[in-house]
Amino acid sequence: NPSHGGGAAKHADELLGGLLAPGMDRRSCRSRYQAAHYYKHFPYAPSPHLLDKLRAYEARHRRCAPGTPLYNRSVEQLRSGRSAGGVECNYVVWLPFDGLGNRMLSMVSGFLYALLTDRVLLVDLPHDSSDLFCEPFPGATWLLPPDFPVANLFGLGPRPEQSYTILLNKKKITAVVNNDDDPASKNATAALPPPPAYVYLSLGYQMADKLFFCGDDQRALAKVNWLLLYSDLYFVPSLYSVAEFNGELRRLFPAKESACHLLARYLLHPTNAVWGMVTRYYNSYLAQASRRIGVQIRMFNFASVSVDDLYNQILTCSRQEHVLPETTTDNDNDDDLATAYDSNSSNGGGGNYTAILIASLYPDYYVRIRATYYEHAARGRVRVGVFQPTHEERQATQRLFHNQKALAEIHLLGFSDELVTSGMSTFGYVGSSLAGVRPTILMPAHGHRVPAPPCRRAVSMEPCNLTPPRLGEAECREMAAVVDKEDVARHVKVCEDFDRGVKFF
Ligand code: GDP
Repeated sequence: NPSHGGGAAKHADELLGGLLAPGMDRRSCRSRYQAAHYYKHFPYAPSPHLLDKLRAYEARHRRCAPGTPLYNRSVEQLRSGRSAGGVECNYVVWLPFDGLGNRMLSMVSGFLYALLTDRVLLVDLPHDSSDLFCEPFPGATWLLPPDFPVANLFGLGPRPEQSYTILLNKKKITAVVNNDDDPASKNATAALPPPPAYVYLSLGYQMADKLFFCGDDQRALAKVNWLLLYSDLYFVPSLYSVAEFNGELRRLFPAKESACHLLARYLLHPTNAVWGMVTRYYNSYLAQASRRIGVQIRMFNFASVSVDDLYNQILTCSRQEHVLPETTTDNDNDDDLATAYDSNSSNGGGGNYTAILIASLYPDYYVRIRATYYEHAARGRVRVGVFQPTHEERQATQRLFHNQKALAEIHLLGFSDELVTSGMSTFGYVGSSLAGVRPTILMPAHGHRVPAPPCRRAVSMEPCNLTPPRLGEAECREMAAVVDKEDVARHVKVCEDFDRGVKFF
């Protein structure tokens, strides 16, 4: 069991208010039962409707999982080249795209889409992701079997022949207009071509298949047995604009900002190999702290500035938002230090101890922040420890061990009381959602200019959907007509860190 500083949940409900199903094997996935003891915050209990939906999903997954007769039937249908009505099990197959944070967000989005459309989520994991996540569903696998009939799944890219827009253009599938009162529309529906066996959904940052987010297109896709999902985005906020999903989303998540928080904690449990790193690190360096601050520093090529500039941005931000402990001036330095030593040396524990956990590909910010608290005392007799588990220097998504370390750090960030994250980084978005914390977001240095203000406090713990579909009324009738636009406006907002992105709040 982890030891805790003051304030951490000592008797955490390990199944997170019923979010996690009981009865799974503890030893094969220790994080599933242990993680609750490490999180500092659990701000939103899952709604009864979400719990019902998850239990129904788990039952469906068991019925339809690879190896079952129903799975075999759906695969036979896929081999036949067209979809059929009356097939009991329909699927979303998740495909990897981009870095780990991106992948985790598109997994969560794909899972929610499966919940909303009564589908089953299967994942096709390359070797680099083979030992990252536990099986999330009781009694059945979520792994796509290797003999799946569609070839080269990792290499199809954003615009293969079978992607939705290309199929639409070739009239191999037709959006289904929802107009029950109009007999002409009923006849038109009857005359539609048989739906293809599978449709590839290209919902990455290029957003090739943005019509996916229209009600008419959702009705067409509902008739397709297999959907292959290629995305690196958290596209949940855009599902809100589909009338069929809107009411359901509201019931599932009465607090909008809880969507990714709850779904990530439900779905993405690190395997024992990763959890070992997480708990060893936590127990060695973080457990004694009464306050844990996570600082995630990501530098993008399109928004790079010098180390000095970024370091100053972090400090200015911290002062503005009162995140990192302030240091004393020379005058009060000695007194503070002496008292801190006297009052804390004997027990060695919790009290006034703040741990700062840094996640970054580079060591520079750790070195500087640590030096700051070596050279100066922190105000208020706070003792400060500064830690950084790795500095991998460069992204290496094709390497399993690299990804395991990245995932461990995302989870360590998730145990924070408070977070400072880098704008537009999905790595930081996942950390905040897991933590259940509204982070302070460092603004990206667009045009390589040091941003002012340096950071903003996020309105919610939800990730930003960095590339929402941008559909006009001509392309997406329903978005204009049916959805309660006021409600969307009340709960979907422009992101703090990117004015072309949207997020729930
Ligand atoms: P994003 O690019 O910031 O949106 O986040 P992604 O997770 O999708 O891709 C960045 C990848 O770079 C990560 O998955 C890691 O492989 C690596 N990376 C970036 N920052 C860190 C970090 O702080 N720690 C570790 N271990 N890896 C990182």
